Amino acid sequence: MTGHRTAGAPGRVKEVTSLANPLVKEIKALSLKKFRDEQQAFMAEGLKLVIDALDLGWSIRTLIFAKSALGNPAVEKAAARTVAAGGTVLEVTEKVLTAVTRRDNPQAVVGVFEQRLVPLKDIRPAPGDVWVALDRVRDPGNLGTVIRTVDAVGAKGVILVGETTDPFSLETVRATMGSIFAVPVAKASQDAFMAWRKGFSGLVAGTHLKGAVDYRSVDFSGRPVLLLMGNEQQGLPDALAEICDRLLRIPQAGRADSLNLAVATGVMLFEIRRSGLTLDDGD
Ligand code: SAM
Repeated sequence: MTGHRTAGAPGRVKEVTSLANPLVKEIKALSLKKFRDEQQAFMAEGLKLVIDALDLGWSIRTLIFAKSALGNPAVEKAAARTVAAGGTVLEVTEKVLTAVTRRDNPQAVVGVFEQRLVPLKDIRPAPGDVWVALDRVRDPGNLGTVIRTVDAVGAKGVILVGETTDPFSLETVRATMGSIFAVPVAKASQDAFMAWRKGFSGLVAGTHLKGAVDYRSVDFSGRPVLLLMGNEQQGLPDALAEICDRLLRIPQAGRADSLNLAVATGVMLFEIRRSGLTLDDGD
């Protein structure tokens, strides 16, 4: 890191070994939603994620790396980009990284980024666009998996409706495997979402265990699609079911009452995006 230190802004790279360090305490606090909200920041673990986030234009506040990563050219470059962006770089002990990430064998690089949400009013889907709306999603693993799947199928983004788990929690961000930086996320109360839906002229496809329509029988092409998924425990409330153009069901065999929310979202998304997905990678 010495090259960076001499070339970079002096004082921006700090060596930290103590858990009592105020910067470390501030970052550790990001494991709690209250402090994420206060700081409007969140943590992402891993060098690849940090580089992807920087490439996608996310604002980095702090880059933390383990002493063991010293001399790694990719880490040095990420550190230089952090300083150039006005952020702080911390070189820390494994003990500090373990405490900050609350994980044994932590990744050698962690980034603290500014949170970013898309205002609902700015979402104006065009024909062919697919958005997913999640009603009161509770489980961070489900939310992260849905964000990752939305990214994988080339859907446009996710709208979180009502009281939901935090898209910027460590668990959600981990489950997105980096897709949190690629997928726009909006948040809205149920009322605001219902008002926005009035101006949405595409197909609103709700999924419901009492849905009368087989999801494979619908033509999703030629218009924007909004896929609306219900809460893990309660499914879609009547008010949201009523604003759907169709209530679709995924047929099931066996004894399970329903599919896991993220699995059901994946099944739906691959059907909706069926004609847009090929194995051709453009080479
Ligand atoms: N007990 C809940 C209920 O009564 O709806 C189960 C909810 S399920 C775990 C979560 C969401 O996944 C549902 O609200 C629905 O959006 C979707 N889902 C799960 N299985 C489905 C299926 N077979 N057909 C349609 N949607 C399904």
